[in-house]
Amino acid sequence: MMVYLLHYLSALLEVASDEHDIEVVMETAKAVAWVGLRSTTASTLLHLASNSRTEDISSLKEHLHFPSLRVCELLMDSGIDQSVVDGDRNTALHILLTKGHAERDVLSCLLKAGAHMDARNSSGKTVLDLARCEKVRRVVQSAEHVPGLQCLAARKIMGEKMPYEGIVPKRLESFIQMH
Ligand SMILES: [Zn+2]
Repeated sequence: MMVYLLHYLSALLEVASDEHDIEVVMETAKAVAWVGLRSTTASTLLHLASNSRTEDISSLKEHLHFPSLRVCELLMDSGIDQSVVDGDRNTALHILLTKGHAERDVLSCLLKAGAHMDARNSSGKTVLDLARCEKVRRVVQSAEHVPGLQCLAARKIMGEKMPYEGIVPKRLESFIQMH
């Protein structure tokens, strides 16, 4: 059902012809984002918008393509966080690099949104580990910034397998796990 919603949003963007139309699409997307939908694999709409398989179900395949830059931008502008992880601890960027043919414009858009380069999925892979070709690797590396203290602390905790669950505030647990 979430995939159909994405196609709906994508189609709305295609037919929007003036500012008022765009505003209506934005309001619709915000309402959809607010619900906080997750698939059976805990994917958000942004994960699905970064996945090439999302276009497989469509009878509009010729017109609507995924990963979709416009839909990804729309979802992030509507409040969907690019750092949220799915059931396998993949961020949308992980999904883009494994299942999205790493479309360059979507890649840059997610990188610009401040994706954590050091976020590890449940297989222990960072975004850089998943860059399949030199071109993609270079784009990812050029976006890499100096990690913040929080990232370094979280990496240390995970690397040394230090206990943290129930010790740090609940909201920090997922941040630490991400590293
Ligand atoms: Zn980090």
